[in-house]
Amino acid sequence: MTRLNSHRQLISSKLVDVLRANRCALCHDRGIRHCICADCSADLPWLMSACARCARPLSVDAERCQDCLDEPPSWQRAYALFNFSFPIDRLISALKYHGRLVLADYFGQRLADRIDSDDLPDLIIPVPIHAKRLQQRGYNQTLLLARVMAQRLKRPVSAHQLLRVRDTRMQKTLHADERRSNLTGAFVWHGPALEQQHVLLVDDVLTTGATAEAISQCLLAAGARQVDILVIARTLAR
Ligand SMILES: [Zn+2]
Ligand SMILES: [Zn+2]
Repeated sequence: MTRLNSHRQLISSKLVDVLRANRCALCHDRGIRHCICADCSADLPWLMSACARCARPLSVDAERCQDCLDEPPSWQRAYALFNFSFPIDRLISALKYHGRLVLADYFGQRLADRIDSDDLPDLIIPVPIHAKRLQQRGYNQTLLLARVMAQRLKRPVSAHQLLRVRDTRMQKTLHADERRSNLTGAFVWHGPALEQQHVLLVDDVLTTGATAEAISQCLLAAGARQVDILVIARTLAR
């Protein structure tokens, strides 16, 4: 797709979003304030019980999963709003691949709700996509989420300082070990030293955590004191 076409698609999908803005994306009820009505929002697969360290759903009443007790990640805390199941999987796909940008506002607000006002991060960083994919898609959905959050929480967002220098699009098809090695050197911090900052990394989905781990190590090496992860949804995959 040419760049112009991708911009056209983005503009027309924005327009459709505006036109549909007062309809629920799930039940199509009219006259609602947000793009998902209160009833549908309450019925979403909210993640109620999860590991405080990696956000993996926990059935027992434990604070940490066994993996995090055995080998904790380099980040401090991870939060996920939902289980990655229907209709969250469809909504994320609509935001990510089909230009339903109005969903960034709904999810960005819900993500901001999860942040404790007594424990605000110094900096919000969206997980970057590779420049090639940014050109194809026309937008980075995690930057849209981070901007909504930044406005709500009155915290700065770093839009272009963390770079994905290698296109790791085949990540989905790889096993956990392969994912980790595939991501070595994939991210570079181009900003000033993070000087003991508490950083919040925002993504749409957390699966094995390999991407989050690679970025977390990169940000800690750049001087961050603490990295937390916040995502829309957590998958059950290891
Ligand atoms: Zn609804
Ligand atoms: Zn865990």
